[in-house]
Amino acid sequence: QIDEAKAAASVENLRSPICCILGHVDTGKTKLLDKIRQTNVQEGEAGGITQQIGATYFPMDAIKQKTVVVNKDGKMEYKVPGLLVIDTPGHESFTNLRSRGSSLCNIAILVVDIMHGLEPQTIESLNLLRDRKTPFIVALNKIDRLYDWKAIPNNGFQDSLAKQKKSVQNEFKDRLEKTIVAFQENGLNAALFYENKNMGKYVSFVPTSAHTGEGIPDMLKLLVTLTQQRMAEKLMYLSEIECTVLEVKVIEGLGTTIDVILSNGVLREGDRIVMCGLNGAISTNIRALLTPQPLKELRIKSQYVHHKEVKAALGVKIAANDLEHAIAGSRLLVVGPDDDEEDLEMEVMSDLEQLFSKVSTSGAGVAVQASTLGSLEALLAFLKSSSIPVSTISIGPVYKRDVMRAGIMLEKHKEYAVMLCFDVKVDREAQAYADEVGVKLFTAEIIYHLFDAFSEYKKEMSEQRKRESAANAVFPCILNPVAVFNKKDPIVVGVDVVEGSLRIGTPIGAVKKNPITGEMETISLGRVTSIELNHKAIPICKKGQPSVAVKIEGPNQPLYGRQLEEKDTLYSLISRVTIDTLKTHFREEVPKEDWQLIINLKKVFNIL
Ligand code: GDP
Repeated sequence: QIDEAKAAASVENLRSPICCILGHVDTGKTKLLDKIRQTNVQEGEAGGITQQIGATYFPMDAIKQKTVVVNKDGKMEYKVPGLLVIDTPGHESFTNLRSRGSSLCNIAILVVDIMHGLEPQTIESLNLLRDRKTPFIVALNKIDRLYDWKAIPNNGFQDSLAKQKKSVQNEFKDRLEKTIVAFQENGLNAALFYENKNMGKYVSFVPTSAHTGEGIPDMLKLLVTLTQQRMAEKLMYLSEIECTVLEVKVIEGLGTTIDVILSNGVLREGDRIVMCGLNGAISTNIRALLTPQPLKELRIKSQYVHHKEVKAALGVKIAANDLEHAIAGSRLLVVGPDDDEEDLEMEVMSDLEQLFSKVSTSGAGVAVQASTLGSLEALLAFLKSSSIPVSTISIGPVYKRDVMRAGIMLEKHKEYAVMLCFDVKVDREAQAYADEVGVKLFTAEIIYHLFDAFSEYKKEMSEQRKRESAANAVFPCILNPVAVFNKKDPIVVGVDVVEGSLRIGTPIGAVKKNPITGEMETISLGRVTSIELNHKAIPICKKGQPSVAVKIEGPNQPLYGRQLEEKDTLYSLISRVTIDTLKTHFREEVPKEDWQLIINLKKVFNIL
């Protein structure tokens, strides 16, 4: 009896932790969630698992039942009342569970496919978890795919592994080792959960199969132990509300509703609430607090159960007026009797304003648009770490006015006339307008895909600019004429290339003393239009090759025998512009000794 009273007291003090599932696509996130939700038929209905809005609630009774196989000595302690698992796995919900820049997700499961190890989105998830300082465990999923694995449904992992053949055990060890090393390379120490002596320092790997259910009892046990050990103080009930908008949805008969996760405090019907909106803060009153009808009550007409009040932690749908422009990822505040509504409006909007303040003030940068506040925040952090400057940001579908804003870059920074759109729809008119004016739109559901697309685009742009600036790319050379075949229009001379390389298109000049003023003057001969070696056309003639016949064409050519003599050395006609062009676009194509040649030619042409 006393024990029960104690347990009840602690249950009152601690609220349920909130758990998110993250990981690369196809690692089995959805399947794992399904598997833990599944009631265990043999042991009777697992007590009271409830479907909420955007989340599933596992009361401790259900978790106790599901962890029986790994709690044979009965030593496991259950202090939290249950576990609230977010239903939509992935970045989206994780990034939206936010409050003042920190995460409302108390613990996360990072799912890794044991057959694939670390994948791009695993790393992306790792970075998110690190940024938000969220404790997590790694589910090394799909162990049933190890060759020759003999399944024991819903068993504890250690027992299952012990019963496998040596070859299976070896394959497991091998793959585990590889993944641990890959994690280390990403700056994270990891250990198999039952070998992990320090959960604060090492991330625990728990091998699972979402198909056979093996390892899932271990995973649940680990989640409960870790939350209880590491964050008891964070799980205390607060009088203050902690609540986030996960999704904004139109529901027939209800209008626009918001799905929220209440991680702390109490919400009541009629409460005055405040949140971020696309056109400024939204203040409205809760008309209804709704959760789904339990499955067995399907005969009841209404889809939802109404609540007068709900207590954290849970997922609930809120019906209210004026929610059309609500922003997912926004904090939701309740206006208390002593609160000033305007203050609270300013407070919620500050989250959005903070993001605006992170945008480049120098003006040059891409436009970024995301579906929610949380994903925008994550995307901006990622772009910052990738050194991609951002000039404007926005939330929600892309409309023409957004493209127009991005189009400002077309004039001065064409490479940034780009919109990186994360998980948003692009309005048709907006796309058409973008195509017309030349703003590039990249859309993706995975952050790093946007990065890849943008990097690829930048490379393309640089190739294009290279082509466009080819006329100003003058490679240095010095020519000694050995014969004049045609004196003018066009000039045709036989030359030896004594330094550098001569190319089709290279402008040619000579430097002569003006007989009247006595000053050195540059005489332009025109551009090389053909190079022939033994009557065969070649595109380039390099230093040391045999003499070539060169045709030079251009306006106002000097005449050999008058302004020019055969003994005059010829040079590629360089300038400040041509040097800069080489430096920016063709740096790799200029051999080291030719940079020295450029320095020498600068003296010849008196370029500063
Ligand atoms: P998500 O994209 O991470 O949500 O992955 P899903 O849960 O949709 O799973 C992707 C695919 O992997 C599906 O075909 C699943 O049936 C399969 N899968 C998931 N977990 C396991 C597992 O533990 N073992 C095996 N063999 N297949 C799995």
